[in-house]
Amino acid sequence: MAVSSSADGVRWDLNDLYRGADDPAITADIQQALERAKQFEQAYRGKIDVPGGPSAELLLSALTELEGLYELMSKPGVYAGLLHAGKTDDPKHGALVARTSEERTVINKHLIFFDLEWVKVGDEEARKLIEGPTLQKYRHYLEEKRAWRPHYLSEPEEKVLEEKAVTGREAFVRLFDETVSTIKCPFKHGGWTSMLSIQQINAKLYDPDREVRREAARGWTTGLKQNARLLTYIFNNLVQDHKSDYELRRFTGPMDSRHLANEITATVVDALMTATERHHDVVQRYYHLKGKLLGLNQLYDYDRYAPISTALPSCDWPTARTIVQESYDAFSPKAGSILREFFEKNWIDAELRPGKRGGAFSSSAVPSAHPYILMNFTDKLRDVMTLAHELGHGVHQYLSRAVGYLQCHTPLTTAEMASVFGEMLTFQRLLARHPEPRLRLALLCQKIEDGFATVFRQVVLTRFEQALHKARREQGELTTEQINELWLTVNRPMHGEVVQMTEDYSWWWLYIGHFIHVPFYCYAYSFGELLVLALVQKYRQEGQAFVPKYLDLLAAGGSAAPHVLLARLGVDVNDPGFWELGLKLLGGMVTEAEEMAGKL
Ligand SMILES: [Zn+2]
Repeated sequence: MAVSSSADGVRWDLNDLYRGADDPAITADIQQALERAKQFEQAYRGKIDVPGGPSAELLLSALTELEGLYELMSKPGVYAGLLHAGKTDDPKHGALVARTSEERTVINKHLIFFDLEWVKVGDEEARKLIEGPTLQKYRHYLEEKRAWRPHYLSEPEEKVLEEKAVTGREAFVRLFDETVSTIKCPFKHGGWTSMLSIQQINAKLYDPDREVRREAARGWTTGLKQNARLLTYIFNNLVQDHKSDYELRRFTGPMDSRHLANEITATVVDALMTATERHHDVVQRYYHLKGKLLGLNQLYDYDRYAPISTALPSCDWPTARTIVQESYDAFSPKAGSILREFFEKNWIDAELRPGKRGGAFSSSAVPSAHPYILMNFTDKLRDVMTLAHELGHGVHQYLSRAVGYLQCHTPLTTAEMASVFGEMLTFQRLLARHPEPRLRLALLCQKIEDGFATVFRQVVLTRFEQALHKARREQGELTTEQINELWLTVNRPMHGEVVQMTEDYSWWWLYIGHFIHVPFYCYAYSFGELLVLALVQKYRQEGQAFVPKYLDLLAAGGSAAPHVLLARLGVDVNDPGFWELGLKLLGGMVTEAEEMAGKL
């Protein structure tokens, strides 16, 4: 199938990493990393966990070398991943992904001892080192590792787990991905039946013609049903694998390790989730309005994405680039100049190409290089927001390189902060360019629906995961039908009577990769979005005074816990009332849409 858009030729240049899948520098780097890892082990094994703790100078030199090593050993894998995403159907790319991941595991075996020894250092000695002046640069890394102290196993156990994960957990994740990406869904239209991928049939749910949407939902369900046995088995197996993992590591529940990784407490997450659920009426008010706008008495699940306006203008790549560039420029010249680098130095891959991975992402790559963005630009107005989103990640990753490999990565909760903020900036600009009332309403509705997908839906997904893990624990292996029922049960409260869930919809958990890739990922989206809405409020109140504080926050990367970094901006995530700010802003957007619709 020929694919093209106005972004044809907008291709990333990966030469800043390597010159191709057969670049000899890849093997050379892997070999060098392995050598250095062996030397590292020789130099430091048995030197960290010593009576009285190591000297600060020794620990500093170890961390400096470790940081360089991680950077070196990660680069081949990062490159392989990007090559593969750019062209998944080239077997050389898949082979390079497998090879680099295996080699990384081999290298990592020489490094595992370091964290394990560090967490064994006594609390008092560790506190002195962490608070002393020598190790300030790595303070958070050292602190964070020790938070896992009660959950580490012995070194031989850790090694066995890591090695067996390649053919265990990781293999099932890959089987899931490959199964979902090859699902074919029959789509009946105009007397013909065509076989579509999930991504293609998903696009039909946005069709203005209800018949098309209904057929798309049916076809999608058929495709899922045909693969339900295998996918259900993978779900059951990975949920069980997660359970053995958290029990081995002495966590009390399935979400605990995620909370720890997110540097957040269960109390904060509970407050976020219940606050969101208290505002389900906002969702239902909106869909009530949407039903009226579409002229439908009863909405079904397949109507949720129906367009409010069929006349949404298209947007070509140069225009999209200009809109996003202008919105970042207006916010901060510094952020704007970073964006210019992305465009001018070809760090973005936006064209449509057979074999290219779907969706969009920004990869931080390695701090010695720079981030890379992949998206599939289809000339739709929606793609402008995707570009703004990924560039938000890009700016965040670009700025946080300064704190180095060990501390540049943010936990999931703040990982979506800059991306969603970037979207908000661009959305205002987009609205300003379009004065026509019906179109403005359509844009606002789109924004509201995106907000719902990020805030409310993610809480529903988290409730589903909680229910799934609980049911698997209590009832053993679950059937597809049992999980279908769990799925419908958690979806109903959000939609109420306003959107009816069909039987088809009960199957629609089977393809969702988040459950498979990173258990309990989803609440981080709600956290991020509600946080951003609050930050937007602050920016509106404080104006330019807000900007440098915000950029400092991005540049700090993961060098302190989110609540510590956010406190510098006057944000207190431990205050249960904090979440109301963002939820009220969403409710306000629905009120605005109701008023706009009233004037049409
Ligand atoms: Zn994102």
